[in-house]
Amino acid sequence: MTVRTPVRTRFAPSPTGYLHLGGARTALYSWAYARHFGGTFILRIEDTDLERSTPEAVQAILDGMQWLGLSHDEGPFYQMQRMDRYREVVKGMLEAGTAYLCYCSPAEVEAMRERMRASGEKPRYDGTWRPEPGKALPDVPAGVTPVVRFKNPLDGEVTWNDVVKGPITIANKELDDLIIARPDGTPTYNFCVSVDDWDMQITHVLRGDDHVNNTPRQINILRALGAELPQYGHLPMILGADGQKLSKRHGAVSVMEYPEQGYLPEAMLNYLARLGWSHGDDEIFSMEQFTEWFNLEHLTASAAQFNPEKLAWLNNHYIKAADNERLAGLVRPKMESKGAQFDGSPALPAVLALVKDRANTTGELADAAMLFFRQPQPDAALLTQHLTDAVRPALASFAERCQTVEWNKAALAAMLKDVLAAHSLKMPQIAMPLRLLVTGQLQTPAIDAVLELFGRETVLTRVAKGL
Ligand code: GLU
Repeated sequence: MTVRTPVRTRFAPSPTGYLHLGGARTALYSWAYARHFGGTFILRIEDTDLERSTPEAVQAILDGMQWLGLSHDEGPFYQMQRMDRYREVVKGMLEAGTAYLCYCSPAEVEAMRERMRASGEKPRYDGTWRPEPGKALPDVPAGVTPVVRFKNPLDGEVTWNDVVKGPITIANKELDDLIIARPDGTPTYNFCVSVDDWDMQITHVLRGDDHVNNTPRQINILRALGAELPQYGHLPMILGADGQKLSKRHGAVSVMEYPEQGYLPEAMLNYLARLGWSHGDDEIFSMEQFTEWFNLEHLTASAAQFNPEKLAWLNNHYIKAADNERLAGLVRPKMESKGAQFDGSPALPAVLALVKDRANTTGELADAAMLFFRQPQPDAALLTQHLTDAVRPALASFAERCQTVEWNKAALAAMLKDVLAAHSLKMPQIAMPLRLLVTGQLQTPAIDAVLELFGRETVLTRVAKGL
């Protein structure tokens, strides 16, 4: 496939809700394609639906893009700020004869459609006001403000080779003479998108496949404008594991719920990258690798299924790989809200290094780390069970040797072994009461590592309570 260069892609969300996973995936692919070719990625906010667009939704989109690190090179452009430009293009099309004024009232158009439906035809605008050579148009009615209609070709067909779906052909007969400007002059959706893609010199349009029906209309408008056509790729929907359209029932659908739930952006990016595109069997890759590999040939044509377990697995991978100082910054607020005491406690990054292996989210990481940041309150019954008379002397000699042992994991492990041998005990017999006394719980990471992190003083104070 030859690629029109320089590559210019865009993400063009309508700010009518949060940035959902499907939108984020579209943004990611458009961004990666531009990055792959050293091209330009444009952010365009399609905010002409005044009733449904909100500033909060614009902010949610910007926040989501920022969290994912999908930086744009141009924009954000707001369609509402481009109204003068759209009016100018409408005027130019009227002058060029690729658009015309139509004085039919909505009621007349509805009646026209009704007649067609009744006679078994596909309802469409009948072309009353469409100028043709030699055709006499009706008299302009008084007091009616016209709409502007696009003069769609009557014959032939529109064909494009969709980079995801393959060749798609629509007969022009199927397409109406679309209204491009309403009586008050405001431009309509497909027209704005076409003008923007033209002005912004977009070379590749990747978007959800709910837009397939708009594409032939936009292609015709672009042709009428004399624009070079972009390549189109329509990405299939993301479904829940049950095959239904992704919704709240399947977990979070807003991208910005994921940082709250403890996901790292690199896990989300890696997940979305594979959800509709593949590179052999590779499952885990960095964004550098992704932008290097990303192409349009390996986009998946079938609907993708959202799999929360796989996302959690990737998140665990990226938590393990993440810098501990960075993780500390993410989990500290979560731990503070759980009442963690950081004064006199081990260093949080060192604790995270020890506990992060099994954490699927930073929330689970915070839970696992809490052990080191609260006063232990061992359960009395458990203490009685584990702190037996047989064990107490061993614990006393452990405490004794704690005074002088070199304070590191290896030396502590060797010392524990010595104590066990001297008292003819097995590891769990001393490890369990030690865990209870020092941490308040029976399940902890390896005891030598736990002791090392707490430090000599804390260990001595807490063990003394059991003697
Ligand atoms: N604004 C449209 C949407 O949010 C996308 C339009 C496009 O990508 O062409 O679905």
